[in-house]
Amino acid sequence: MAEDNKKDENYWKEKLTAEQFHVCRRKGTEAPFSGDLYDKHDPGMYVCIACGSELFSSQNKFDSGTGWPSFWDAVNKENVEFREDDSLGMVRTEVLCKKCGSHLGHVFDDGPAPTHQRYCINSVALKFQPKEAKKE
Ligand code: FE
Repeated sequence: MAEDNKKDENYWKEKLTAEQFHVCRRKGTEAPFSGDLYDKHDPGMYVCIACGSELFSSQNKFDSGTGWPSFWDAVNKENVEFREDDSLGMVRTEVLCKKCGSHLGHVFDDGPAPTHQRYCINSVALKFQPKEAKKE
């Protein structure tokens, strides 16, 4: 668990593509509507591209119209971490993978019921696992 947090820059540079590294390890943001997951509706689990930790379920996914994969809840609050982010002149809540510390996106308070939260997550930070392929 925590050992993934101690991986150095070179480890992630080798493991991730340049775009994944930019988003996950440099807190970058993919262009809206550029990712391959914002319009995905298949049943399954969205896991961390960097470490494989289970983060979001298709059951909590909704169409936000933003061009980023959007969820109204995380699959398990133990698997995500929140951090105040005041970059770009606004206060936002950053969402990170708790296991490896990778940046995922941000969470806002304008989502649908029942949580009214909107997890706005980069496609490149996620890997989709179809339900059929899930082993656990
Ligand atoms: Fe991770």
